[in-house]
Amino acid sequence: MPINVTIKAYSLSSTDNEYRALRTKLKARGLKDHTAIGAGSLPDGNVYTIDEKHLFGNQANTIDTPKGVGRRIFDWTENYEPYNRTWRYGYYLADDSGFAELQALRISRHQCGYCGAQYDDGAGEWCEKCLGSQYLKQAELRLLKLLPIADSFGGNRSEEPPEHFAKVMREKQAVAAKHRNKQKLADRLLRANKAVADAKLERDLIDRLIDNGICATLLSNLIYYSHTGRFCFGWNKLLTTAEANTVRVALDSFASGGFNVEIKEQLDA
Ligand SMILES: [Zn+2]
Repeated sequence: MPINVTIKAYSLSSTDNEYRALRTKLKARGLKDHTAIGAGSLPDGNVYTIDEKHLFGNQANTIDTPKGVGRRIFDWTENYEPYNRTWRYGYYLADDSGFAELQALRISRHQCGYCGAQYDDGAGEWCEKCLGSQYLKQAELRLLKLLPIADSFGGNRSEEPPEHFAKVMREKQAVAAKHRNKQKLADRLLRANKAVADAKLERDLIDRLIDNGICATLLSNLIYYSHTGRFCFGWNKLLTTAEANTVRVALDSFASGGFNVEIKEQLDA
């Protein structure tokens, strides 16, 4: 079942008793206001469906519904304008079944303090997804303790990690480093092969153009775009009609040979 939460909007003066009572009530619910200057609010009564893929402690992503588009919403956000600080407006999530479900999920789901991975059955566990992370250090291993989402952000992760973690970390990091190095070389080889193929293609075209009487001046106005595999005459300076015709005759003589050549020429006055 999707989790739906309802927006309760307000617009009050900070000097009103109603405002003070509201803040007291929301704090009693355990909400912390996310204060922003000049930020917008949301319409009272809007219903949003929580995107449960990745949860946060005091806010949530929502998914598109007929009643609202996907966006980031806060449990409680209060805004004011710099020119009128007593006017307070914002919204909070209604204390209904949807919010209770969200809170329950924030307690049952656990999160790693290093990589942010979330586990639905992670109580008492440690994250192993990031144990091979390139930049993870031994002193940071305690961050891998899984804590409920509700406590995870800024949570106290002082527990010592399992003894074997440091050794496993080093082993995984070594395997990952080896893979990265191999990948780097494979990428270099791929780029080098592409450069050779490009150079051969350019040489083949230029050889044929020279054989068919195209002069150095025209060749200096020819460019090869390796990312598209396209040649372009006139990239630097548009060809005159006579120059363009000379190039066309040359290209026709070897039926272009499968080369993708564009000719940019001056339009007749
Ligand atoms: Zn992790």
